[in-house]
Amino acid sequence: MTEQPEEEFIGITIVTNLPYDWSMGPYSGRLFREMRDNKKLVAVRCPECKRLLFPPEMVCGYCNIRVEDDWVELSDKGTVVQYTLAGMPIFDIREGKLKGAPRPSANVKLDEGVYLMHWLEETDPEKLKLGMRVQAVWKEEGRGRGYEDILYFRTIEESSND
Ligand SMILES: [Zn+2]
Repeated sequence: MTEQPEEEFIGITIVTNLPYDWSMGPYSGRLFREMRDNKKLVAVRCPECKRLLFPPEMVCGYCNIRVEDDWVELSDKGTVVQYTLAGMPIFDIREGKLKGAPRPSANVKLDEGVYLMHWLEETDPEKLKLGMRVQAVWKEEGRGRGYEDILYFRTIEESSND
């Protein structure tokens, strides 16, 4: 029996530098501009079914009609309707590095009824609850990176009179 030669794995280093700009178009562009300039989330309302479309879209997918300029400013407060607490570091594709754990992500139902996936500030598993009230914490500087203009959602306490 002849001994098989060890298979050689060849590694090739490829260095790329591909900076590019991505046009967000008029609808997402307006959302991202409001986030960057005013720390605000906006949606657009369909004239037919009256649904809020978030992120804003040019065409209502339910009615298949063009949505005009009925812009609605959203609260940046909402309720956690789902969350995931990752026990391992998460690879952040935007920054190209591992982010430490725990780092909970959540689906937040904003007070106007639309949903936004984002990070939570709270990392204590005992304090993470469905139905917890949260509010966006915005970057003070360096905005202009879309949803990254929000650092995370922070747990808020509200009185019953709110
Ligand atoms: Zn519609």
